[in-house]
Amino acid sequence: MGSALEGRHALITGGGTGIGAATAERLAAEGARVTLLGRRIEPLEAIADEIAGAATQCDVTDPGQLARAFDIARAAYGPIELLIVNAGIAESAPFRKMTRESWDRIVATNLTAAFDCARAAIGDLLGSENGRLVFVASVAGLKGVPYAAHYAASKHGLLGLMRSLAAEYAKSNLTVNAVCPGYVDTPMTDQSVARVSAITGRSEGDSRGIITDMNASGRLVDPQAVAQVIAMLCLPLSRDINGAAITIDGGTAA
Ligand code: NDP
Repeated sequence: MGSALEGRHALITGGGTGIGAATAERLAAEGARVTLLGRRIEPLEAIADEIAGAATQCDVTDPGQLARAFDIARAAYGPIELLIVNAGIAESAPFRKMTRESWDRIVATNLTAAFDCARAAIGDLLGSENGRLVFVASVAGLKGVPYAAHYAASKHGLLGLMRSLAAEYAKSNLTVNAVCPGYVDTPMTDQSVARVSAITGRSEGDSRGIITDMNASGRLVDPQAVAQVIAMLCLPLSRDINGAAITIDGGTAA
């Protein structure tokens, strides 16, 4: 256990599973007080119990729920100094079959809710001596992805938001950055594997192999590797890393 983030209040959206849960564990291990948000309370409470943090049920696409959850977080642990915007969803479809409903769902969760989260915490973040805003984007924010135009567009948009805020607040104590993972070993990737199986009729193992081979490394990224980079960005000494989109993708975007 370190103490580099001792007493700092971190809020993580989508903190009950995958990258969000790994980040919660990592930030707590560095001494942060962690608030977790998500739609399902059970996984949030499981992680919160483990790290002595707080869990609040919240659909980040609902502005009313979001405002309430941020108020609850502040009442418990004070101003939000580290905001990790991680909640996200993925779907896939050939473009000609992609529906407007699917586009709206993806953009609402991956991009519009990120805007709302950043706006809800910006006062706190700017008031901190070392405010940190980290977006969990994707290599899909850096390059196009066949059968996932909506997802890639949402993550490209997220990087545009990140870079604009980094530029706007460059003279403050706040940094704004993004991590861009390749395929990570999380429930989201499990769902991608299931989709490939359903569409192609291949076995679960073969489908996982196809997804895994989409990373240049030929292996899935460990969620703890993403958490480690997020924790690094939160350190006081990282104050001059601003506006970066850091790939953790085994070389896929190289
Ligand atoms: P998970 O599915 O495990 O995590 C996504 C989290 O987001 C879940 O905990 C989910 O909780 C939460 N979430 C989704 N929608 C909402 C919502 N409307 N309101 C609140 N919480 C929500 O997968 P990952 O850990 O992989 O995903 C985390 C982030 O990483 C996402 O932004 C994803 O796009 C990104 N990413 C993932 C990659 C991968 O290969 N897995 C690669 C690159 C980026 P709940 O359902 O309970 O709300």
